[in-house]
Amino acid sequence: MSKIRLECTNCKKKFDLSNLYFCDECNGILEVIYNYDEIRKMPLNEIFPDIGFNIWRYKHFLPVEDTSCMISLLEGGTPLIESTNLSKEIGLANLFFKDETRNPTGSFKDRAIAVGISKAKEMGLNIVTTASSGNGAGSLATYAAKAQFKSYVFVPEKTPTGKIAQALTNGSTVLKIRGNYSDAYQMALFASRTFNWANITTTFINPYAIEGDKTVSYEIFFQLKQNVPDWIFIPTGAGPLVFAIWKGFIEINKMELTQKMPRIVAVQAEGCSPIVKAFESNQKTSAWKNLNTTVSSIADPLTGYESDGDQVLKVIKATGGLAVSVSDKEILDSVLALARYEGIYSEPGAAAAFAGFKKIFNLKKIKNNETCVCVITGTGLKDPDSAIKGINPVIIEARNEELLKYLEKK
Ligand SMILES: *Cc1c(COP(=O)(O)O)cnc(C)c1O
Ligand SMILES: [Zn+2]
Repeated sequence: MSKIRLECTNCKKKFDLSNLYFCDECNGILEVIYNYDEIRKMPLNEIFPDIGFNIWRYKHFLPVEDTSCMISLLEGGTPLIESTNLSKEIGLANLFFKDETRNPTGSFKDRAIAVGISKAKEMGLNIVTTASSGNGAGSLATYAAKAQFKSYVFVPEKTPTGKIAQALTNGSTVLKIRGNYSDAYQMALFASRTFNWANITTTFINPYAIEGDKTVSYEIFFQLKQNVPDWIFIPTGAGPLVFAIWKGFIEINKMELTQKMPRIVAVQAEGCSPIVKAFESNQKTSAWKNLNTTVSSIADPLTGYESDGDQVLKVIKATGGLAVSVSDKEILDSVLALARYEGIYSEPGAAAAFAGFKKIFNLKKIKNNETCVCVITGTGLKDPDSAIKGINPVIIEARNEELLKYLEKK
């Protein structure tokens, strides 16, 4: 029997690894559990083999057992960039950006999708689907192409064109749903159940995909020379990235490499912040009613899977962390700040991490000697229009005098 198991996070019922999305006893969220005692007995260079700087270096903590099933474009292994300008501007010495824009398709979703699709292959499935605000769709389409699988992606109608183009170009069937993210979620769930497609929606639905996100923590830990940051700021939709980053650091603790956990801050857009609302009112998460934000990649109302929010709250609270919301304006200002001060071109949903950091920093909750990491989850290249509203290029005639005249006026 496999050493890796699925376990219900609610009733703790255990399952062998299979194409299962919810606990059959209580409908709870499933989680992959490893035999940590076995792994810990191995020498460090076997636990973390030197097989390149990508997610598969952490294969002992990933649920893919048959290496011939790995579908990879060398995802992960993204740089942890030290702030040189914003840190001075703000007055915090140790500010870092985990630059997930460098992934194969431009977002951290590649970590989850690579593991999810590899596991699907291992389970003998070859049609895959996802509900996505766009990045997951582009990623799934790309990895499905690499695997030569058929793919169907469900996206809300307001998904940015660049993300849809990525999915279409990679050969996915793109179904644009007249509705929001949760509507797309329900349609993908229905389709996957009806046709036995592997559902690699990157909420808490696919217990394998989430494991891929965990590799962010391992990378940060080694990039900080085996140190754990004091704070991590994470843009949050349904929150699997938050959960996974927490779990990654828990595992690093289990390997006895540290005894420290970071404080985790989930950042949401004010116009769709069900998790922040639950955090602030100290209640269970309820679905968000009036979605009102243009920051599409983190706009998840959680309708029908509200318990995802509680899963996130549990881990945030366990770290002494916070859930914080920021306005669309603060988010768009952060896109420009990251681009103009650090040369990091991010999409609004990704820049929300920095907006959240600034908010908490201004509330004086962060000490000057503490280390902060903002996870910049996706590139600006797929959604260029959001950030440049009101900023226009200069248009002049193709004559030198025209240029001189313009520069003189300026
Ligand atoms: C999906 C996504 C998020 C949200 O991640 P969750 O794990 O769903 O909370 C954040 N930023 C970007 C760019 C994304 O594509
Ligand atoms: Zn259960």
